[in-house]
Amino acid sequence: MSAREYQCSKCGTKTARGAKRCSNPECRAELAFCSFCKDVVTYELAENTGGKVRRDLYRCGKCGERVLKCRTWILGGSCNGLARAGSRWHRQICDDCKGGATEFAKRVGVLALGSALGSVLRRK
Ligand SMILES: [Zn+2]
Ligand SMILES: [Zn+2]
Ligand SMILES: [Zn+2]
Repeated sequence: MSAREYQCSKCGTKTARGAKRCSNPECRAELAFCSFCKDVVTYELAENTGGKVRRDLYRCGKCGERVLKCRTWILGGSCNGLARAGSRWHRQICDDCKGGATEFAKRVGVLALGSALGSVLRRK
């Protein structure tokens, strides 16, 4: 796709589009790809805003929007996307995975289906 270069927003080291951590040994910042600002960003846990504390809710270090780790990521996939918070759980996937752009996303779908079938069978 594009030859755009990304960098760690903390130390400025060049980083890959899919990096989950800065490659600079003195930085090692946790990185993710934000669905809002379309950039590799640092992120932090969003503070409690009066309601329930949501441990899975993060805030983009660049645009400040509330984000969630992409479901593909949570399931151990290669994705490092941050999905827009507020989506329903089954839609908590980043734009890349949403478009079915990655083969992995499809495989996760198949796996989820497989384990659902498996639990049905085990119930006997
Ligand atoms: Zn860095
Ligand atoms: Zn952002
Ligand atoms: Zn994703």
